[in-house]
Amino acid sequence: LVPRLRPFTSTIFAEMTALAVQAGAVNLGQGFPDTDGPAAMLERAQRAIGEGLNQYPPGPGMPELRQAIAARRVGLGQTFDPDAEVLVTVGATEAIAASLLALVEPGDEVIVFEPYYDSYAASVAMAGATRVTVSLAEQESGRFGLDVDALRAAVTPRTRAVLVNSPHNPTGTVFTRDELAGVAAVCAEHDLLAICDEVYEDLVFDDHEHVPLGTFPGMAGRTLTISSAGKSYNCTGWKIGWVCGPAPLVAAVRAAKQFMTFVGGAPFQPAVAHALSHEDAWVRALRDSLSDKRERLSAGLAEAGFGVRRTEGTYFVCADVRPLGFTDGLELCRELPGKAGVAAVPVQVFTDNPDRWRHLVRFAFCKRDEVIDEALARLRKLG
Ligand code: PMP
Ligand code: GLN
Repeated sequence: LVPRLRPFTSTIFAEMTALAVQAGAVNLGQGFPDTDGPAAMLERAQRAIGEGLNQYPPGPGMPELRQAIAARRVGLGQTFDPDAEVLVTVGATEAIAASLLALVEPGDEVIVFEPYYDSYAASVAMAGATRVTVSLAEQESGRFGLDVDALRAAVTPRTRAVLVNSPHNPTGTVFTRDELAGVAAVCAEHDLLAICDEVYEDLVFDDHEHVPLGTFPGMAGRTLTISSAGKSYNCTGWKIGWVCGPAPLVAAVRAAKQFMTFVGGAPFQPAVAHALSHEDAWVRALRDSLSDKRERLSAGLAEAGFGVRRTEGTYFVCADVRPLGFTDGLELCRELPGKAGVAAVPVQVFTDNPDRWRHLVRFAFCKRDEVIDEALARLRKLG
């Protein structure tokens, strides 16, 4: 393995899921739902297979899916031409990797906020670029703030792009308009690209609001907006994602993407097009149900003795292990499946400053209530 990829031989999700399986633990580590998406969407995929949609779809994605993606972005304040400004990818993961491979040169710097989703670091490394990390700030309120001054201070003449994930995995923070306006200002001041991972855009609770960074003044021409169907429609295994942006940037991403996977997921594409166009009520119900699960898990973790942080969006909650007498989240997560029969994910592995993040572990609540309750019953015996 080439040196720049040596840190990426295994993912924390694979490691913790393997431990969970081995120990028969309740897996609140890897974030995947344990119920299916909308029935009509599932039927549409099955019908597509029956109808023979089993060969390569068009390179940019099926037209009906690109149109449905563009139509959906209108509701978020973004206008894209489905033919030139929308590209279907194999999950958001491919969209992120292809964007970096297409637009970042070896030696360029890419700013990421930590904790960062693990694929960002790997994709930056695959592009031969340098990761520059800016820490989110843990606030009294239990959310994690975006420090615009720290971002500005991290910019150098080599900085090419900023990767922004909101709603944010693993913290569950939804960045505010003010925070995003600050990011937009820095991008404009320094002529930076923004690569925005918005896969949790539909999973936002209370009166928090998901605002795409690409809608801020001066951003449309320099922003790639990435999302996918996995989180909104409980189909993480389908890997239908997309990237939207100005035509020249999307054409560049398409050039890279066509030699990564060329195309993918033919029978799933019309199914996701259906979901984007007809399943808003289903998504609202999912969001309400996840909001309740967030309360259920957060309250239960607090009762078990964890220091629970506030989740504004996503299906994750972060918890401080120190009140229980532990000091290291990674150590605890390695022991937890055997010791308590529950799997979680340590936050420090998503950072370049493990000392600052050692006290936090992440639990996923995209699970049936009885699964959450079983995990909580087991965790209550931990203290
Ligand atoms: N970004 C974030 C922040 C995620 O949590 C995930 C899903 N785990 C992805 C990207 C990957 O999305 P996909 O499965 O569509 O590739
Ligand atoms: N995105 C999911 C999570 O954060 C897992 C994805 C994966 O296993 N790579 O838990």
